Amino acid sequence: MTGSRHLLEVNGKRILLDCGLFQGRRQEADEKNRQMLTDPTKIDAVILSHAHIDHSGGLPYLVKSGYNGPIYSTFATRDLCNYMLMDSAYIQEKDAEYVNHRAKKKAKPVEPLYTVEDAQATLNLFYGVGYERAFVVAPGVVCSFYDAGHILGSAQIHLLVYEKEKNLRYSVGFTGDLGRKNLPILRDPQQLPSTNYLLTESTYGDRLHGSILDAGKELEGVINRTAKRGGKILIPSFSVERTQEIVYHLNLLWKDKRIPDMPIFVDSPLSANVTEVFMNHPECFDKDTFREFIDHASNPFGFGRLQYTRDVNQSKALNEMKGPMIIISASGMCENGRILHHLRNNIEDPKNTIMIVGFMAKDTLGRKIQEKQSIVNIFGEPYHLRAEVAVMDAFSGHADRSDLLDYISKIKDLKRIFLVHGEEEQGIKFKEVLFESGFKDVIQPGRGESYEVP
Ligand SMILES: [Zn+2]
Repeated sequence: MTGSRHLLEVNGKRILLDCGLFQGRRQEADEKNRQMLTDPTKIDAVILSHAHIDHSGGLPYLVKSGYNGPIYSTFATRDLCNYMLMDSAYIQEKDAEYVNHRAKKKAKPVEPLYTVEDAQATLNLFYGVGYERAFVVAPGVVCSFYDAGHILGSAQIHLLVYEKEKNLRYSVGFTGDLGRKNLPILRDPQQLPSTNYLLTESTYGDRLHGSILDAGKELEGVINRTAKRGGKILIPSFSVERTQEIVYHLNLLWKDKRIPDMPIFVDSPLSANVTEVFMNHPECFDKDTFREFIDHASNPFGFGRLQYTRDVNQSKALNEMKGPMIIISASGMCENGRILHHLRNNIEDPKNTIMIVGFMAKDTLGRKIQEKQSIVNIFGEPYHLRAEVAVMDAFSGHADRSDLLDYISKIKDLKRIFLVHGEEEQGIKFKEVLFESGFKDVIQPGRGESYEVP
C-alpha cells in the first residue's frame, strides 16, 4: 500500500512518522488522501523518513488542515522536499483544473487537495537534523536518523522511549523504505541499534532482485538492441535517485563506448532541480561518488551527450526528432508529467522500447505497461502497446526478501515486527518467511488499526 503514515502516542503526545500520498485509482486515491484518521491539530510532531511523495506528499494537506508543529528530517530530505512538494502541489492544482474543465457546468467544482501556497507553508515547518544526531521529539522520546540507503537523504527513524508514569523504557525503529547494498551514489543501509519494536517495509518481501552489478550490463543490452532498430528508449523514472542512478550508469557506458553515440535527454524540470540538490549534498554520497566529485571536481550527473530539458518547447521538439535516443522522464509510475506525451507518441511503434526501472503501484499506467497489457489508456484514449517493454529489476532501490531478512536478523532485542508499506500479498508472503526464520511475533496492520506496546 502506498501512502505511508504511522502515528505513535507516547506520554500523551502524538508523533506522526511520515505523511505520504496514496497513489492508485484517481477517485479512491483522492478520497483516501482527504481522509484524516487523526485531527491534525492534535499531532505534536512529524518525523519524515525520506522525500518520496508516497512518504512526504500528504504533508501540505496536513498543514492545510491545521497542523502547525515541527517536521523533522535530514537536511537533504528537506531540500528535496522543496521541489517535490511544490511539484506535487502543482500536479494537484492541474488535476483539479482538468476535472473541473470536463465536469458538467452545474457540477460543484472540486478543490485541489492542496496548492503551492500550502506546500510553501509546509516547507517553513522543517527542521533539518544530521544522521546519528540524537534530538528530543517529545518529552521522553529521543530520535536519531540512520542512513536507509534508499534515496538521497533517506533515513531510518530510531526512537528511544521513556514512559515515566509506567516507568517503561523501550525502543522503536521505522525503516522507512530500506535500500540495498552497492547502489551507486549512496551508502549502504545502516543497521539500527537495539530495537524492540520494528516497523519495516515489505515492498519486495516476496522476491529477489537481480544483482545491482548486472544493471549496467542489462541497460547496455536494451540500448544496443533498440538503437539497432532505430528506435527510441523511453525510461519513466522517479525524479529522485532512479534518474540520477541511470544517468550515472549511462555515463559509465558512454565513457567505455559500450553504447552507440546518441543523444540522451532527461526531460523533466523536476529531475534537473533534484540533480542540483544532489550536488549540494555530498555528505550523503558513498566513497566512490564522493571521490569522483572531489578529485575531478566533476559532475557525476552530467556528461557529453546528456541534456536536461526544462523548457516545454524543447520537450515537444523531442517528438519531432528521429532516430535512436534515450529519453528519461517523470513521473515514475506514468501517472502524470511529460512521460505521458512521450508514451502517447511512441507506444505504438515496435521499434521503440519502454524501460521499466522502478516500482509500479497497482492500477497505475506504469503497472499496466509492466504487465504488457495489449491496450492501455493515455489521456483517456486507448493505445496499442506495441513497443518493447523491458523490465529491469536490478535498478530497484528497495531491499528484497534476502536483504530484509538479513537486516532484521541482525537487530538486537527485537520483540515484535510490524510489516507496513508493501502490498498485502507481499506482506503475507514475507510474514511466512519471517515465521520460518523464527520471528513469531509479526503483525501486518490494516489501515487505521492501532496496537499497544509493550
Ligand atoms: Zn521511497
